[in-house]
Amino acid sequence: MSKIKYVKPIAELQGDEMTRILWDWIKEILLEPHVELNTEYYDLGLIHRDETDDLVTKEAGEAVKRLGVGVKCATITPNNQRKEEYNLKRLYPSPNGTIRAILDGTVFRTPILVKGITPYIPTWTKPITIARHAYGDVYKATDVRIDGAAKAELLVTHADGSTEKYPVHDFAGAGVLQGMHNTDKSITAFARSCFNFALASNMDLWLGTKDTISKIYDGRFKAIFADVYEKEFREKYEKAGIGYEYTLIDDCVARVVRSSGGMVWACKNYDGDVMSDMLATAFGSLAMMSSVLVSPDGNFEYEAAHGTVTRHYYKYRAGEETSTNPVATIFAWSGALAKRGESENNAELVKFASELERATIATIESGYMTGDLACIFKADGITPKKLNSRDFLKAIASNL
Ligand code: NAP
Ligand code: MG
Repeated sequence: MSKIKYVKPIAELQGDEMTRILWDWIKEILLEPHVELNTEYYDLGLIHRDETDDLVTKEAGEAVKRLGVGVKCATITPNNQRKEEYNLKRLYPSPNGTIRAILDGTVFRTPILVKGITPYIPTWTKPITIARHAYGDVYKATDVRIDGAAKAELLVTHADGSTEKYPVHDFAGAGVLQGMHNTDKSITAFARSCFNFALASNMDLWLGTKDTISKIYDGRFKAIFADVYEKEFREKYEKAGIGYEYTLIDDCVARVVRSSGGMVWACKNYDGDVMSDMLATAFGSLAMMSSVLVSPDGNFEYEAAHGTVTRHYYKYRAGEETSTNPVATIFAWSGALAKRGESENNAELVKFASELERATIATIESGYMTGDLACIFKADGITPKKLNSRDFLKAIASNL
């Protein structure tokens, strides 16, 4: 059988720990037997980031921008403990943060539903997609430790040299301070990509922020979304029979929990970070969620929403078997291959990607899965069988 080929490379961003191991196994067992992978390879493993003074992360982000499609493995965001563990030269920033700052855009996260795994909220019969703004706020903030009595002010220097000063706080003693920002350009791109995504998936769009407290900052998100909706989308939405709604973030959380799902939920950067883990867990597992970063100029980076699964990696390194769930990482690859297939009108590649997803879901539905799912799986007449990661991948391969 000849392998499926495509023309333009995909940016391949290798990562850390257990997901790094899964990455190689997915390629070996599921992809390479069928597809002649053509990738530009960037090793974002912490050791190589340290060797390159983190230059490789920047190059990888630029490669996604240049090639239009990327696939990323989970990576360690180092803290002081990691700095010691890996003997790092310095504390590098989050690779996702660096890449998102280059690409801008929105991260869409959707649970991967399988029969036999009931969400913790049983009324959620339809998926809920989180649309997470991927630029700015606390992820690109200046964090300051105030070590004693101090007066803190915000100073804005305009392009013409004129200045404005705003009081923040008169510190009587030690404390903390943070300055953060966003831009109209990025918020507008965020709004457009959310409206487009919801329209393409025929789902309502909800936006929640805290504009009662953060009147100017969060108020800007509300105003820009309203403006983009009126000018560009209201007619299309009415024709499609879907809606757009703004509500306070706390009300939004309560209403999502009471709903049956089936909406795209636009979240500011931090809200999206927190809420997507809550949603993924409530839908069954962190590893049952697909995630794609869509940039305003039409570049796509596919990833898993979970981390490097450190606890499993330490077991693996000690020679023990692990049952780490590779589904989100498989869906990152299938997403990237399908997108490349679409961009080259390569029906064979698009079909392979969808067959790979189908085989993955069918394997679980027939009772073969990793440990995180085996303990929550319930289907009449099927006793779930817990497999180690490699055997699970082989079971998918035989269904494929
Ligand atoms: P994590 O890697 O997501 O794992 C947290 C726990 O969730 C695991 O210990 C495991 O629970 C469960 N889990 C997550 N993914 C799983 C999978 N695929 N299969 C089975 N169980 C899974 O989060 P973390 O331990 O907080 O972070 C580890 C490292 O990942 C950190 O260095 C962090 O910086 C990095 N991180 C990277 C990204 C990213 O690159 N996108 C995102 C988040 C975190 P049990 O141990 O109970 O089995
Ligand atoms: Mg997170």
